[in-house]
Amino acid sequence: MVDYAVAAPPVVSLPAPPGKAFPVRRIFCVALNYTDHTKEMGGNPETDPPFFFMKPAGAILQNGETMPYPPGTSDLQHEVELVVAMNMGGRNVSPEKANAMVFGYAVGLDMTKRDVQTELKKNGRPWEMAKAFDFSAPCSALALKTRTGAIAKGKMECRVNGQLRQSGDIDGMIWGVPQIIHYLSQQVEIAPGDLIFTGTPAGVGPVVRGDKIEATIAGLAPLSIEIG
Ligand code: MN
Repeated sequence: MVDYAVAAPPVVSLPAPPGKAFPVRRIFCVALNYTDHTKEMGGNPETDPPFFFMKPAGAILQNGETMPYPPGTSDLQHEVELVVAMNMGGRNVSPEKANAMVFGYAVGLDMTKRDVQTELKKNGRPWEMAKAFDFSAPCSALALKTRTGAIAKGKMECRVNGQLRQSGDIDGMIWGVPQIIHYLSQQVEIAPGDLIFTGTPAGVGPVVRGDKIEATIAGLAPLSIEIG
């Protein structure tokens, strides 16, 4: 046994059938992957292609938990996203081979400090403090790909206190799941346990303390959290 100098970090995991835990290694996120959302953010989908950013594994918040309202923002926003969980590693993966590397899918929320992000963007600075903060990655239990098959379409919605805020479809992705895995695997070696948040459709907006967020994607169990 290794004699660590300080307490070693716990392995963050998500529930995965049958009665297992999926260890989360890294969280990659795709930005600007839906044309309607790129437009609502003031971008141009023709000239602003999707790109990647990251959150730490420790940012996971489990389904049903309360997310503490984070410090340093007055504009915390929801982004409902399809989450892809990887069962295999690889570099330079072709889109044709990408699906075989998928373990399963989940519903995620890419929680964002929009006011902080706007300021960072304006100054050409990195997004971490707007995206990678504690509890910024609520995520449901994983559903096995063997049950769902490859996901290329499916209604996705986000409700706040029962009110519909976001309504889109996975088929609105600019980069589909195989393309995301293809592009990401050209930048880093993908590893088992990696999660990919695949981007959000239009309708993002603020939440406040006490709000209940329900995020749904057809064929997957819903994700429900409360802002504390
Ligand atoms: Mn996002």
